[in-house]
Amino acid sequence: MGKPVVITDLDNTLLDEKYQFTEAVPVLERLKSLRIPLIFATSKTFGETLYFQKLAGISDPFVVENGGAAYIPKKFLKEPFFDGDYYEIPLGVPFEELMEFMEDFSLRHGEEFLYLHSLSPEEASRLTGLPPHLAKLARRRDWDVAFLPKRQEVIPILKEEAEKRGWRLQKGGIFYHLTGNHTKADALKKVLRDSGLEGSLIIALGDSPNDLDMLKMADVPVLVSATGETEEMFKKEIGNVRIFRERASLGWAKALREVLKEIEGGE
Ligand SMILES: [Mg+2]
Repeated sequence: MGKPVVITDLDNTLLDEKYQFTEAVPVLERLKSLRIPLIFATSKTFGETLYFQKLAGISDPFVVENGGAAYIPKKFLKEPFFDGDYYEIPLGVPFEELMEFMEDFSLRHGEEFLYLHSLSPEEASRLTGLPPHLAKLARRRDWDVAFLPKRQEVIPILKEEAEKRGWRLQKGGIFYHLTGNHTKADALKKVLRDSGLEGSLIIALGDSPNDLDMLKMADVPVLVSATGETEEMFKKEIGNVRIFRERASLGWAKALREVLKEIEGGE
């Protein structure tokens, strides 16, 4: 059995609705003392993810914007062959290219869109429900254009044109998101390979359908904040999934305490 590595989603998995993870702190400290890498794989941006890494006191590889890109800190690479602190693995379509498409679409169809990145931090905070200091970091995305259409009717046409390019248009909680075609799992496979963590015992935690692929690649898949709906879906797709109905960091901490105990007991 390889060395353990923990991969986790953030929203509603490690973080509660107030973006806190108080209940998870003792387990986080335990992971650090055991030198078990903790890889964040999230829909959040680079800036937001770094913010939560600092709060958690970790500096491991991470995946942002649902697999738009992955970042590996220098210390994980045998021969750092680049400048800067992180080796960037891009999987998504860059923001500028996505915006070019949106602007061209606007011109051709005479449509208007409200873009998240053009809002002030206060407006973004009001719309997203994020506190202003986080809304500021969430506004500008590198591999994703988040927007609201003036007219709802335009969405199917926009979707069709985006899919012709091999891109994706999806509705999130509030905004529509135009992105390339990538998943957290795609990015994680590259992260594990490039940070020398291949062959590890993968423990993965998530709460929603966009974590399904990531849990599928894990040796120990864990669903937290489970609802009737997600429980049924994950059970059907992943035979050995562990299910925790406890919310966010409560379920997260309970699950990892259980898994760590088994690993330590087995040695
Ligand atoms: Mg989540």
